[in-house]
Amino acid sequence: MAIGLQLEQVANLLFSKARPATLIHFVTERCNARCPFCFVDFRPSTDRADELSLQEIAQITKNLPRSLMNVNISGGEPFIRNDLTDIADLYLTNSSAQSLFISTNGFYTSNIVRFCETMPDRHPEKTIFLSLSINQIGKKHDLLTAVDGMFERCIATFSAIKAFRPAIIPSVSLTISPQNYRESLKIYDHLVNEQKIDAIQIVMARSEGVYNVPSDERMGMAVAYEELTRKILRDCQKGLLHEYGNDSFRGRILNDKNILSRELVVSHIRGERPFRHCQAGSLFGVITADGTVYPCEILDKPFGNLRQASYDIKKLWEGERAMEIRQWLKTTKCACTYECAISVNILSNWTFYLQHMTGYLR
Ligand code: SF4
Ligand code: SF4
Repeated sequence: MAIGLQLEQVANLLFSKARPATLIHFVTERCNARCPFCFVDFRPSTDRADELSLQEIAQITKNLPRSLMNVNISGGEPFIRNDLTDIADLYLTNSSAQSLFISTNGFYTSNIVRFCETMPDRHPEKTIFLSLSINQIGKKHDLLTAVDGMFERCIATFSAIKAFRPAIIPSVSLTISPQNYRESLKIYDHLVNEQKIDAIQIVMARSEGVYNVPSDERMGMAVAYEELTRKILRDCQKGLLHEYGNDSFRGRILNDKNILSRELVVSHIRGERPFRHCQAGSLFGVITADGTVYPCEILDKPFGNLRQASYDIKKLWEGERAMEIRQWLKTTKCACTYECAISVNILSNWTFYLQHMTGYLR
């Protein structure tokens, strides 16, 4: 990447914070699974009628600002779309994003493997992360997702994509929910020791979309999250977990970011306010399947729809509505445990890099 562009992106990320550095695109609301903590409303049988087409996504990617450093593709289940590889290709070809992160339930093994065979050759200079969601063991995961054979498929997918390292960086995402927090340590131990999963992120189920975390389960989930946080840290130190690898600057930064992110989630759960100002709507934003742009996936405060903005996110980002929402976020000191936003809040704080460098030199 040209040094001028790099400097421009870093200046936006650390200082001006005016344009998106990371976007999440929920490319579909369709999914073959039905997790009980899912925020997608599946009741009006979700179809593809409103989904942005590949042609529309091509236009969006051509209009993205140069500040964009990373794109997350999610859903629904993104690999349910047969054109997912083309969507990813458009983002990596037309935008300045240097990394792509895809969250999947791991069911569509052959689609995912085809993606892994194609993308690194087309974009050898870009970093591609694939995160597979596993939230229970064996048949219990099948029951949780309401898909027979989901666990076996997911484990097979993880083994298959491990072969593509370092071009593809695989990990497992374990969501702590009311359905599994009592067993979360057991699930984690099974994944690490029996299934040899060596990169695990933990996520807290959130009240979002159509899902509400029952209030009497929140404390139990928080305690489980905190216990797992400590266990993951110990296992990283023992070398049992690979995470993003320690052999590159990017890998070490992302590993440190994950440690801090988990600490911040715990602080927030304890009732402390861990960060001064959330960067959602400034450095971070979300595009839904029908092209509506939000500062994050939790607030029901849209900036507008890309279909009505000539597929140019800059028009929405700089619009009056976006400015009002950003002001609202500042005034209310909005705070939550949403890990994607927390990651951006950490990575846009220059003192984090200073602490990282100091720790590394020690
Ligand atoms: S796999 Fe993901 S999108 Fe599908 S139901 Fe579960 S949480 Fe929702
Ligand atoms: S704190 Fe959470 S809910 Fe508020 S803007 Fe940030 S991500 Fe959205």
